[in-house]
Amino acid sequence: MIPVLPPSEENLRFASAELAAGRLVSFPTETVYGLGANALDPAALARIFEAKRRPFFDPLIVHIAERDSLDSICVRRDARAEKLMDRFWPGPLTLVLAKTEAVPDLATSGLPTVAVRMPAHPVALALIRMAGFPVAAPSANPFGRLSPTTAAHVRDQFSEGIALILDGGDCRVGVESTILSLAGETPVLLRSGGIPREQLEALIGPVGLAGANPEKPSAPGQLPGHYAPRTRMRLLRAGAPPAQAVAPGETGLRLGWLGFRGVPAGRFAAVEILSPSGDPREAAARLFACLHRLDAQSLDLILAEPMAEEGLGAAIMDRLRKAAAGSGESP
Ligand code: AMP
Ligand code: MG
Repeated sequence: MIPVLPPSEENLRFASAELAAGRLVSFPTETVYGLGANALDPAALARIFEAKRRPFFDPLIVHIAERDSLDSICVRRDARAEKLMDRFWPGPLTLVLAKTEAVPDLATSGLPTVAVRMPAHPVALALIRMAGFPVAAPSANPFGRLSPTTAAHVRDQFSEGIALILDGGDCRVGVESTILSLAGETPVLLRSGGIPREQLEALIGPVGLAGANPEKPSAPGQLPGHYAPRTRMRLLRAGAPPAQAVAPGETGLRLGWLGFRGVPAGRFAAVEILSPSGDPREAAARLFACLHRLDAQSLDLILAEPMAEEGLGAAIMDRLRKAAAGSGESP
C-alpha cells in the first residue's frame, strides 16, 4: 500500500528528496491531487506516463512556487501573461507559453510550448520550494478515470509506482485548472476549469475556443471521453424529466442520481446532491467526491442533472459530458 502521510516538515523533506531521486509524489492542490515528478528529469517524467498509463501525446502541466522560476522554463511573457499572473496566481489558471530548452520534450509532448501554473495550496507550494525545481503533475488518477479530490481517492486508485501521498485534506476548488494558451495572437481557452472564462475576458478581452479536434487534442479535456466513472452515466437534457431518460427496457436497473440542487421523484438506489443551495462553487468542489461515491455503489446507471453553463457551470458541464462519454454512453 502506498503510504499516506500528513504534510509535516519531516514528510515534506522526505517527499522532496523522493522527487529529487526521480520518484513520484502525490500532493494536494486546490484543484485536484497531483502526481508530481521533477519536470526537468525525463526519466522521472516517464514514470508519470507509466503510472497513469497516460499516452505520450498528452503533455503535462508544470507547477512552480515562485514567478522567478518562469525564466528557466518560458521564453517570453507578454503583458497579457503578466496581467493574468498578477490577478490569478497562485490559483487554478494554467498558461501555455513558449518553452525554453530546459523543458524536456516528454513534458510537452514535443510541443514548442509549455503549460505552467502556480497552485494555491500551502502544501504544494512548500513541496515545490523545498524541491528547488519545477514539478510536472497531472491529476493523480489512471488516465481517463475520475480525478482525485482526497488522498483516499489517490490511494484507492493506485497500488504501486508512487513513493508517497501527502494528505492535505479535501481540495477546495475540486475541478482542474482553466488552461489558456497565450502562444498565438489571440488567447485560446484549451480547457474550462476553476477560473471562469468570463473572468479572463474581463481582464484581457475576448478569449477564443479551441477547435475540438479529437484526432489531435491539445488538451485531454478535448478528448470526447475523460473523467469517467466505471459505472455507466447519462447526462440528462436540460428541462427533460428523468423518467424520459430511462428506456422501457431499463426500468429494472439500479439507478443513481447525481443532482445539482435536488432529487426528482423516482426510485434511486443512491443519491448525491452537488449543492442544495445551488452554489456552483460548492458543486465544483464536491463533483468528483460525489462521483467516486456513486461509482462505489454497484449501480447499473447514474443519471446526472445538467446545470447552466455560466461561470463554474461550464467546467462542471464539461466534466459531466466527458464522464458520460467515457462511461460508454453516446451523447
Ligand atoms: P492534466 O494534467 O491531465 O490535468 O492535463 C494537463 C493539460 O494541459 C492537458 O490537457 C494537456 O494537454 C494540457 N497541456 C499541457 N501542455 C500543453 C501545451 N504545451 N499546449 C497545450 N496544452 C497543453
Ligand atoms: Mg486529469
